[in-house]
Amino acid sequence: MKFTAGKLAAASLLALACACAGTQVSGKSQTEGAGAAAEAKEIQNMAIPNVQELKAQTARYAAVPLKADISGLSAGDRAALKPILRAAQAVDRLFYRQMWDGNEALAERLNAAANDDAGRARRDAFVVNRGPWSELDGYTAFMEGVPARKPKGAAYYPEDASPKELTAFFDSLSESEREKARGFYSVIRRSSSGQLTVVPYSEAYRDILTEAAGHLREAAALADDPGLKKFLAMRADAFLSDDYRPSEVAWMELNGDVDPTMGPYETYLDEAMGLKAAFEAYVGIRDHQESRRLSAITAHLLEIESALPMPDAFKRKELGGLAPIAVLNQIFNAGDAGHGVQAAAYNLPNDEVVVAARGSKRVMMKNVQQAKFEAILLPIADRVLEADDRALVDFDAFFLHILAHELSHGLGPQVIQKDGRETSVRQELGETYSAIEEAKADLMGLFMVQRFIDGGEKLGLSDMFPASLEARLYATYLASSFRTLRFGIEEAHARSMAMQVAAFMEDGAVSVTPAGTFSVDAARMKASVTKLLGRLLVIQATGDRDAARAILERMAVLTPDLKRALDSLEGIAVDIRPVFVTAEEILGSTQP
Ligand SMILES: [Zn+2]
Repeated sequence: MKFTAGKLAAASLLALACACAGTQVSGKSQTEGAGAAAEAKEIQNMAIPNVQELKAQTARYAAVPLKADISGLSAGDRAALKPILRAAQAVDRLFYRQMWDGNEALAERLNAAANDDAGRARRDAFVVNRGPWSELDGYTAFMEGVPARKPKGAAYYPEDASPKELTAFFDSLSESEREKARGFYSVIRRSSSGQLTVVPYSEAYRDILTEAAGHLREAAALADDPGLKKFLAMRADAFLSDDYRPSEVAWMELNGDVDPTMGPYETYLDEAMGLKAAFEAYVGIRDHQESRRLSAITAHLLEIESALPMPDAFKRKELGGLAPIAVLNQIFNAGDAGHGVQAAAYNLPNDEVVVAARGSKRVMMKNVQQAKFEAILLPIADRVLEADDRALVDFDAFFLHILAHELSHGLGPQVIQKDGRETSVRQELGETYSAIEEAKADLMGLFMVQRFIDGGEKLGLSDMFPASLEARLYATYLASSFRTLRFGIEEAHARSMAMQVAAFMEDGAVSVTPAGTFSVDAARMKASVTKLLGRLLVIQATGDRDAARAILERMAVLTPDLKRALDSLEGIAVDIRPVFVTAEEILGSTQP
């Protein structure tokens, strides 16, 4: 049995807690450069898994229930959920079609054959991956009779059209035609005479989009929340006109209990050209308690900035507008959002024109984080943490740190002065930027939560940030650091984490017992976090790439103790496979 759970899986997994700008928010990843070449070689040698191996592949996704409390919804908003979910199911069918031309026929065959162990294993793997290729294994086929690997251009282009032919075709078009041909919302087809032609989504997928638009209109008529009504009706129009911009703006403004995301968004499935958007849907219910905590923190961000451990000259006197963050609980996902590694957060829209005019919205799905926490983080803590520390690991601290991490990306140096010119941290730090910025956000997140714990009483926030949170915060962070380190240290998040753990150990904040388990000392941890954060902030403020390289080179290494701990994590789930409990209650069954 051979799993290539290397680069691809790693990059996906590391993104699961982070919705950071410049990183893969959706949890999907693409292969690049040398990685892709190595992978292509491996695919040729990759055997089709037998039934047991296939079951083991699928078992890397732990099945977990996802639900949300909908009892507080108004009658109309609750009634709107059913047609919204029906539209999402239509989107799911549409995604199968986008993935591969043969998918719809294959789905029927696999469903009909799912009456024994082998048949069910193939059907389950097909549903998890939304196609006959295993995403965690570089999209290699897990059954006979299909291409050995997912077609790079999915079903967006004729199977026989090379990127070169496509590029020549695009170049041959007038400017306005080219814009449509290269746009998110069209496919390229070959006519009977062999000519390439551009077909808009509304035409190419007319049957399913007409059905989905009908469900959305029904939902719009039922909903009470005016913002929701508006988005649903406008999105129904967009499905049939391919003009998504007005409804993207309506989506940004959603602010009620029901928060659906539905449409063609990400382009990762188009590995050939990176142009075409895959249909997906998330149906979320807003978490009001978490939204309140978020606004409490947001109200004090400037105070955090002024307290950062760096010279005052580097501190910002005012903060720019922060991207809105919505905290939701997911009750359903579909299509591009549904296959393989599950996103716990996303940033949308992707349309640059809308982003330039209106910014983007960050959505964090709390119950997805919780499911991952329970299926992955707790088992990791069981194996690598000292018993007393293990007892302190909790979801509340975990999620709070994720929120603080996200907010921290908006603090600290960004536009800086170097050699008398204005430049940016990203520009100056180059290839070291991501690792340094992620470590900064991690450490500043800890620093920020600690400030709220220390000042909670004065701020009237001690119910949200009790003193007991401190020990939980650091023990939980230590457990989650192993989750990040699990996939090697080539990737930015993992390098950044290896550097942090090395610093904590150097300062005696984290220590290893003779049994090989790890333990954290909260008082020393506080000091160690502040010290390393201060060093990184100065590196950023001065745009000192040499110093960034030096600290990463010296500290981003796995010690034998860490390696041994990581080896002990074998067999723990890689990701989750949601069971949509609330959606099933509403629909009767989530099978389309
Ligand atoms: Zn981040």
